[in-house]
Amino acid sequence: MADAGRNEGRTDTLARIAVNLDGPAEYRGTEIIGDLRVIAETLYYPFKFVAFWDGQTGNHLCPQTQAGGACTHSPDDAGRAAYAVAVEGEMKGELEVFFPHADLSIFLG
Ligand SMILES: [Zn+2]
Repeated sequence: MADAGRNEGRTDTLARIAVNLDGPAEYRGTEIIGDLRVIAETLYYPFKFVAFWDGQTGNHLCPQTQAGGACTHSPDDAGRAAYAVAVEGEMKGELEVFFPHADLSIFLG
C-alpha cells in the first residue's frame, strides 16, 4: 500500500464504529475502560482487545513504550490519529469501537 493514504491518521482497513448512548444526560453510561472493553468485545466477538485511547487524558496502550522507547503520541487529535495508524500497523487492529459519551476508543483485532 502507498503511504499517501496514511496521512492524518487515515488507515486502509481500520473500521471505526461509534456506539452512541442516546438518552437523558442524568443517566450516564459507564466510562470505565474495563467495562467498555467487555462491551466492545461482546458486540464484536470473536474480535479481541488490542489497544485503547482515552480522549480525556490521552492515555493509551503504547507499542512504543512497550518496546522500551519513548511515546510520540501527543494527547490530542493528532496523537490520536497517529496512534490509530500504529494500532493498525503494529498491533493488528481491525476495528475501532468509539464511545462518544466517554471519548474513549477500544481497538479490536
Ligand atoms: Zn504512545
